[in-house]
Amino acid sequence: MAEIINGKELAKKIRLQLKQKVEELKNDGVQPKLSVIMVGNDKASEVYVRNKSKACNEIGIAFEEYLLPEETTGEQLLNIIETLNQREDVHGILLQSPIPKHLDIREAFNYIDYKKDVDGFHPINVGKLAIGEAGFVSCTPAGVMEMLKEYNIEIQGKRAVIIGRSNIVGKPLAQLLLNENATVTVCHSKTQNIEQIAKEADILVAALGKPKFITANMVKKDAVVIDVGINRTDDGKLVGDVDFENVEKVASYITPVPGGVGPMTVAMLMRNVVRATKLSII
Ligand code: NAP
Repeated sequence: MAEIINGKELAKKIRLQLKQKVEELKNDGVQPKLSVIMVGNDKASEVYVRNKSKACNEIGIAFEEYLLPEETTGEQLLNIIETLNQREDVHGILLQSPIPKHLDIREAFNYIDYKKDVDGFHPINVGKLAIGEAGFVSCTPAGVMEMLKEYNIEIQGKRAVIIGRSNIVGKPLAQLLLNENATVTVCHSKTQNIEQIAKEADILVAALGKPKFITANMVKKDAVVIDVGINRTDDGKLVGDVDFENVEKVASYITPVPGGVGPMTVAMLMRNVVRATKLSII
């Protein structure tokens, strides 16, 4: 039976460490602040933003929210970002996705000052990750790496397979694992023989958003299985992309949903805000 990687507990530990760091910053006269922009009414986004706000409150990071109406224009959105870029009291800026279809999310992400880009989506931060330089790293992949580290899971020389190639999860995670000397394969919706490729993995990451996609027959004995997926079933339950019940019998380590990668994502966001604050006073 696999050991459960407890993201909830690890995230709590990280939040406690961050609280201490925020205290120190406050003693030096600096109050870290995160500004979140939300456009339109997306129910899931409201929950995510509420969780981020709660985490900020717990750690002592100031939090402010801009709730913009559905009909916001591209120019209005960029103007708000520009104001936040200029404000010295704001250290982190986060544009919650999705945003309405008439707006260009890439243009908006690119407009955020890369030094306040706590989501790690700005091309400068993406580029820094690609060449192995310090920058802001996308929170979910950073959270996955932190879990592997906490549980002393060896990465070097291991075969890692990631299913999903999004800009916010699959691609940056591939880069992070590569930087730690794993041999990385990234699968996507056009990949052929995915079961066979998955079965070769020492570290298997599911980040595609399809409930129970990873079944026990796709997992090598004693593989480490990381479930990034968040899906809501018809009866309102949260499930990942992995058939947890059966895969935990084959894997050596496994992350649950909920209580796995999700809380780590928020903890890494908090870490990025603290980091952005520190960098702003150097
Ligand atoms: P996304 O942008 O929709 O990307 C999904 C990726 O999965 C794409 O690369 C897609 O391939 C691939 N894919 C879809 N169906 C596939 C299939 N049948 N076989 C192989 N690959 C397939 O999603 P995302 O934003 O990366 O999120 C992925 C999942 O993680 C979602 O469930 C999301 O809710 C969850 N998530 C969780 C957290 C967290 O904190 N735990 C954070 C972010 C996301 P193509 O590129 O070919 O289309």
